[in-house]
Amino acid sequence: MPELPEVEVLRRDLLIRLPKPSRIRRLLFLSPKLRTPLKLPKSMHDKPLVVTGIQRRSKFLIFTLDQGVLVSHLGMSGCWRAETVRSEIKHDHVIIEWENGDLWVYNDPRRFGVFEFHPDLSKVKWFSQLGLEPFSDEFLAKPVIDKIRGSDRAIKSIIMDAKVMVGVGNIYASEALFKAGINPLKTGKQVSSERIQRLLICIRETLSKAIEGGGSSIRDYAHASGEKGNFQNEHLVYGRSGEKCTHCGSKIQAKKIQGRSTFWCRKCQS
Ligand SMILES: [Zn+2]
Repeated sequence: MPELPEVEVLRRDLLIRLPKPSRIRRLLFLSPKLRTPLKLPKSMHDKPLVVTGIQRRSKFLIFTLDQGVLVSHLGMSGCWRAETVRSEIKHDHVIIEWENGDLWVYNDPRRFGVFEFHPDLSKVKWFSQLGLEPFSDEFLAKPVIDKIRGSDRAIKSIIMDAKVMVGVGNIYASEALFKAGINPLKTGKQVSSERIQRLLICIRETLSKAIEGGGSSIRDYAHASGEKGNFQNEHLVYGRSGEKCTHCGSKIQAKKIQGRSTFWCRKCQS
């Protein structure tokens, strides 16, 4: 499943490829089979659609229009690809045809993705419950630390809770906790404010590194240009059960926390 870094990499990639002028000639819905029906309101059918920016909120891409926003979520297996000549591939669902002839095609074999128009970004239902963005100014502030410190849940579960913060997927949670030296089984209450502060910084660093590396390459995921990310080659603990810790040589531990595989070093993480 594409994670925040992959979506951010894709956003940057698409932004570079955004034609100038960024006017959409046609928006084609090839099948109505995504998670929600694909349709534009009738009032928009005859108006020119001009994309003025591409933003990201959590794992959603937001194409900004004068009339509102187009919101895209890649679900489990979605990807956008950019091409100049249409290559018909199974499971293509949406085509953005630009005025210069470029095509952006949304492909999604498992169809858990979303592509929707909303007249008002502030009223998009998907965003109403979302926690903080890891790269926002508020992320390192005291309210976040207090929220974590007030919880009896395992710290790994807290940082993976999208209502608290977004974008910390299972791989990134294990990696960030290792870098911060915190045992993932500890509860929020058991970790000092200073160490939580350090963890938040490590979460940012882990995500930044993944973005720089092109995101974790996931089976179903590819960049807009079709390249694969390479973050998965650099995991320090994730997926390394029984192997030696890169820092101290102890055996990497593995256990499921809330059904999610978790990896850590008993010696380096307390
Ligand atoms: Zn270690």
